[in-house]
Amino acid sequence: MANGNIPYKIYLSEEEIPRAWYNIRADMKTDHRPILHPGTLQPMTAEELEPVFCTELVKQELNDKDRYIEIPKPIRDFYKMYRPSPLVRAYCLERALDTPAKIYYKYEGGNTSGSHKLNSAIAQAYYAKEQGLKGVTTETGAGQWGTALSMACGYFGLDLKVFMVKISAQQKPYRKTVMETFGAKVTPSPSDTTNIGRKMLEEDPNSGGSLGSAISEAVEVAVTSDGYKYVLGSVLNMVLLHQSVIGQESKAAFEKIDDYPDLIIGCAGGGSNLSGLMSAFMADKLAGKTAPYFIAVEPASCPSMTRGKFAYDFCDTGMTTPLAKMYTLGATFRPSSNHAGGLRFHGMAPILSQLYHDGFIDEVRAIEQTEVFKAATLFARHEGTLPAPEAAHAIKVAIDEALKCKQTGEKKTILFGLSGTGYFDLGAYMQYNEGTMTDQIPTDEDLRRGFEAIPKVE
Ligand SMILES: *Cc1c(COP(=O)(O)O)cnc(C)c1O
Repeated sequence: MANGNIPYKIYLSEEEIPRAWYNIRADMKTDHRPILHPGTLQPMTAEELEPVFCTELVKQELNDKDRYIEIPKPIRDFYKMYRPSPLVRAYCLERALDTPAKIYYKYEGGNTSGSHKLNSAIAQAYYAKEQGLKGVTTETGAGQWGTALSMACGYFGLDLKVFMVKISAQQKPYRKTVMETFGAKVTPSPSDTTNIGRKMLEEDPNSGGSLGSAISEAVEVAVTSDGYKYVLGSVLNMVLLHQSVIGQESKAAFEKIDDYPDLIIGCAGGGSNLSGLMSAFMADKLAGKTAPYFIAVEPASCPSMTRGKFAYDFCDTGMTTPLAKMYTLGATFRPSSNHAGGLRFHGMAPILSQLYHDGFIDEVRAIEQTEVFKAATLFARHEGTLPAPEAAHAIKVAIDEALKCKQTGEKKTILFGLSGTGYFDLGAYMQYNEGTMTDQIPTDEDLRRGFEAIPKVE
């Protein structure tokens, strides 16, 4: 297909869905530091991880050797229901911006869960089923992960217990309904069903909860219930691995139109969709073949990479999980209630953190939410897709970069990840439209309190 005659949507065939996930660790110049046992401070072994996680997923988590890991057929068959996802040329947005840049986005919101999270949910549910488990437990913040996992567990006939951040459960009752429709049991967190939840409620009976507190509850239930394991929707190596289908498909689509992105932009909460989008392109960069410029985008209200510390820290508020070396604001940091629920985690995936630390991710930008919704609205009006607030962080930066090209006349090829749909975020759009949305940016003092809780581990 000649460049210059590029369709609005560049589709791949079913046959072109990747047959293997790409394991970036096999190519990283410096591996991320190992996750540590919180008691002994020694690297976690497979035996220590297995009480919590499925056996096969533990292998994937610790695998730093195999560049490609074959996707089992039942997972690939499920992918066929909603993949390959389209790579879209944003012609209408380009015209609106009057930019010489070529803007593309990879849209992961076209499945019922509404985000990329299904790519890993179906894989994790499959391995749990293969292991003969009764079910799994998890947490969900905004509800995207819980929804994706309830679809996946429903498909394989697995029981699912979801701890949903209480404030989200109140703000997004429809999310809860979708999960229940697929058969999940949803408990607002903190709850009185676990020891850690009861303790949190004692300390603060009106707590709206946080991702960290919901993780603590879900892990407690998994390790104390027979036939259950815990699964997590971001941050972990295995999740980033599963999300590599996004970038592999993107690269294959670019090959069809004989183009290659100069700039790759994605929002980063725990880091999975950005890492997935980057995957095949980062492989090229690590091999010295190409040099795409990577930008991660985070909310100014939860600036783990732009203002956080690169340190060993816990992944949950209860401080029960292993320690991961990552960019972190401290496990006790509570971001203000911004509307990009999926971007409110205090830390960042160790793989992504290491890549940023080593300069392979070129830049991180923190954006205020009113700016994000302004970009989301512009995008929706011109491209006809209502974006998730998380994804709109990437849109905002893509627009900024396209406008820079307008000034310089550069015809850059820009790729950004449109990680999800905004249909479950209409409360946020309502606030924005009514002009009642505000920006809450933590002060240095707020951050200092979070940093104080970071354990002193080198
Ligand atoms: C969960 C979520 C994110 C953030 O998670 P990552 O692991 O950083 O990808 C981003 N966008 C959407 C739509 C999400 O649901």
